[in-house]
Formats: sequence, structure tokens, C-alpha cells
Amino acid sequence: MTISFRNVVMGFMILYTFIHREDAYMKIVIIILSTLMLTPRLGFGMGMTFNLPSKVVICIQYIAIIGLALSLFPRLASVMILLKLLLMFSKKSRMRQEELFKQPPQKEDCPICFLPLPPLQSGMRYQTCCGKIVCCGCIYANSTMNRKKNGLVLCPFCRTPTPDPKKSIEMSKQRMKAKDPEAIYGLGCLYEEGNLEEYPRDILMAVKLWRLAAKLGHTGAYYNIGAYYYGTDVKRYKKKGKFYFELAAIGGDIMARYALGCEEEEAGNTDKALRHYIIAARSGGSNSLKKIQKLYSNGHATKEDYSTALQSYQVHLKEIKSSQRDQAAADSDRFRYY
Ligand SMILES: [Zn+2]
Ligand SMILES: [Zn+2]
Repeated sequence: MTISFRNVVMGFMILYTFIHREDAYMKIVIIILSTLMLTPRLGFGMGMTFNLPSKVVICIQYIAIIGLALSLFPRLASVMILLKLLLMFSKKSRMRQEELFKQPPQKEDCPICFLPLPPLQSGMRYQTCCGKIVCCGCIYANSTMNRKKNGLVLCPFCRTPTPDPKKSIEMSKQRMKAKDPEAIYGLGCLYEEGNLEEYPRDILMAVKLWRLAAKLGHTGAYYNIGAYYYGTDVKRYKKKGKFYFELAAIGGDIMARYALGCEEEEAGNTDKALRHYIIAARSGGSNSLKKIQKLYSNGHATKEDYSTALQSYQVHLKEIKSSQRDQAAADSDRFRYY
């Protein structure tokens, strides 16, 4: 959304008149200016526009409305605004907490073996040719079979020859145009790694792409953005990092969930930490299960907490385990899936 220079000038004038609101004439000026500001078509353009996100524009307009209300009915308006804000924030944080501690939905199935996709990123591969996410077991079995036959590796889903890295990047760009979150996420990782000459390391570009992928529902992208903010030494950025880790955890990312649990544990909030670990263990988080065991031995979790978590972890493991996946994981750590 764009905001004109006129709007910004008016915003400042409204703030100025709000400071001097005892003056009766000023109140009239405020009304006229606010009307002009809130109805852009009525004003006179000054030929300059700023590209601002729609949220910022809405914020400026809210400030104008609050300024107007405060200057006209100071006491009543301030009480009403405070009450409204308090209600809004408490409702929002309550909803967020409820959402954060809900068990996230299970991952989708591998399109070849129809078993649920494993919890770890290394347990699956994105195929740029068809846009499918295939489990490590199917990838491994397919490539071993193809190599034995003729040396040519075909995509286990659409049977097209596996593209070389350059072609694969081109395909990802095409898929990016079709708003494929996995392709956008992958391109972000490409800029983060910076291994290719044509794509030198550019972390800001990576974060920009991850944001785009996250908006389209990619939880791993939320995790990466969170990790980027945690990686800085700025305190307020760490808060941002936690915000993004929470979004990743809500979407079912067990690494983000584990990290949140560790942070709560360090802060002495063992109850919250335990809740995070239990959710992660149910989705296959082995690190989180170990943490629950530790909490139990330290007296911060009950025997029932641990045995229930262990049971649900084993149930999940049974659902995702297969001999094909085990073979892949045994061959290389690149295929580790739980
Ligand atoms: Zn599979
Ligand atoms: Zn394919």
C-alpha cells in the first residue's frame, strides 16, 4: 500500500495539534485534518508517495483516530481506548498460548510409500521436477535401483531424469512463480549457503525468500527466520526469533518446539518446558523425549508424564518406520529421519 507525502505531513500536524489540544481552534483544525487524512481522495496531492506496508498505513490512521478522539473527549476517550487495548491484547495472547500448546497436525504422506513423512528435514527430499516431497526411503531405494540398471537416476515419482544443480535451480524459479513454498524455501537456503558462484551468500535475500515461503505455509521457513534472529546478539531480535520459533512450532516443527522447551527450562518455567517437550515427543522428537526423562529424574516431571510421552513417541515411530527408510538412514546420516 502507498501513503502520500500529504498524509505523512498531516499525521505530524495532527500529533502537533494533539499536544496543544487545549486550544479550541486547534480542535477544529484537528477535525479538518483528520477528515482529509482519513479520506485520501479529498486532499491535494503533493506528488510524493512512500511505499509502506498496509499495516503501517493502518497504524498511522489509528493514531489519527485516537488523537482526534483524545483531543475532543480527553477523559472518556482515554479510558475507553485503554480498556479496548487491554481486552484486545489479553484476548490475543490467550489465543496465541492456546494455539501454541495444541498438538499440531501430522505431516502429509509420502506420495510413493504412503507412510507419513518423517519429522526431520533430512528424512525427505523435495523433487523440483514435479514438486513432490518424497521420503528418504523411497529416494534411496530408487537411486540404488536406477544405478544398478543403467546409471541414470530418475525421479521416483514422475520418472523424469534428475536435473543437474543448475537446471534444478531454474526449475525451482519456475515453481516459485507458481507460489510453491518448498521451491521458494529451497532458493532461500541457496542464498544462505552461498556455495555457488552465481548465488553468493546473501542472508537478507535468504530471509526475504523464507518470509515468502512462510506466508505460504512453510513451517521450516519460520524456523530458519527464527534461527536467523537468534543468531544475532541483539536482545530485541531474540524476541523476534522466539516469535518465529513459536509459529514454526504451531505448524509442527519439532526442532523449533525443542528449542522453545530449552528456553523455558533455562528461564525456570519447567511446566511450560515439559508441555513443549511432550508435544514434540508425540511428533517424533527424540531429543525432547530425552529431556522429559531428565526432567523426571530431576523431579520436575512425573513418572506418568514420562511413560505417556514414551508411549506416544513409540506409536509415532511405528507409523513412520520402514525397512527402506532404515536402510537409507543406516547408509548415510544425510538420510536420518528421526
Ligand atoms: Zn516414501
Ligand atoms: Zn519428479
